Amino acid sequence: MDEKTELSVYCDDVCLEHTIPEGVSYRGSTDIIPVNSPHPDQPDRIRNIRGIIQNTLSEYAVWEDITPATTEQLGTVHDPDYIESVARFSEQGGGWFTTDGTGGNEKTYLAAKHAAGGAIQAVRQAIQGDETAVPYALARPSGHHAQPSQADGSCFFNNAAVAAEIALNEESAERVAILDWDVHHGNGTQEIFYDRDDVLCISIHNGHGSWNSVSHPQTGRPAECGTGSGEGYNVNIPVPFGTGNQGYGYVFHYLVEPIISEFDPDILIVSSGTDAGCMDPQGRNLVTISGFNQLGRIARRLAREYAGDNLAIIQEGGYNLNQLAFGTLAVLEGALGITLDFSDEPEDWHDDPFMFYDHENLDGVVEAVHDVGSQYARYWPLVFSSRETSCG
Ligand SMILES: [Zn+2]
Repeated sequence: MDEKTELSVYCDDVCLEHTIPEGVSYRGSTDIIPVNSPHPDQPDRIRNIRGIIQNTLSEYAVWEDITPATTEQLGTVHDPDYIESVARFSEQGGGWFTTDGTGGNEKTYLAAKHAAGGAIQAVRQAIQGDETAVPYALARPSGHHAQPSQADGSCFFNNAAVAAEIALNEESAERVAILDWDVHHGNGTQEIFYDRDDVLCISIHNGHGSWNSVSHPQTGRPAECGTGSGEGYNVNIPVPFGTGNQGYGYVFHYLVEPIISEFDPDILIVSSGTDAGCMDPQGRNLVTISGFNQLGRIARRLAREYAGDNLAIIQEGGYNLNQLAFGTLAVLEGALGITLDFSDEPEDWHDDPFMFYDHENLDGVVEAVHDVGSQYARYWPLVFSSRETSCG
């Protein structure tokens, strides 16, 4: 596989200044445990991703300033009144925007405009045919739950969708594929393009269904397959808890690749969350670091084979601060066609929560059980043959 030599990172400090009030979806305690986790969408998410890129991919990373999305650009996807309501919300200091956990502060509107702007720039760079770079928008707030006139799931503006519209309206794209592997359903992206055949939306997610009839009425089930000329162009792939690396490989082989191949897009936009990871508090899909690396590699290959090598990666969720950083790094390594080797690196790499969880090791367990059993079989009714005759 040819390697990319540059990672273009679209990032702005204002995305760190968007903060969410305590409470609502994450109370201090529950009926079962006295201390609950804080709200998962912390600014430190961005700090950790930015830091791990600086510390490990410095020879690839080119840091790009973001021009915030204009009201007109946001308006290709969102209702003007809704955009204005987000602006007013920040002018008034923020708080809770929805009743189920989407909130912000005086910086939220500006941060959300930068998040969308970074996605636009990443997509522009990809579609303008940069052969050497992988464009990556380090976007916060995330976007994929945001609907035309509805904030949801910590998302205000749908970054990937706005960028897709720019690709279609201002660049040369005629068909855009959005592949969303965040563990939650990309319901906002679905809603925006539901009747369209020029944007293929594929979402691989847990089958969590609707979490609020007002802010999140979509179910994410396969029956939600699009309407009118968009029928068939919205592909929902709910997968069970514990899907794992091989499970994602199966999904890509039998569903994602054949559909993207047939759709023949001009660009592949990835809504990349790492909350399918094995340690994420929001997901239980058991993807490990090698799994995320594999996702990045597959995205690169699909873009190269079916989308003119035009790939843009846009950050969505991921809420374990360590896993988010290492998982995102793995995705970016995969997209660059590299695998960093940390095996001889200092203790710092033990921050990597995947280090000891890369794969289930049944063969190793069987061997360990047999070794222990053979040691103790002469004392206890164990079924193992004795290879050792003493405890020495
Ligand atoms: Zn998510």
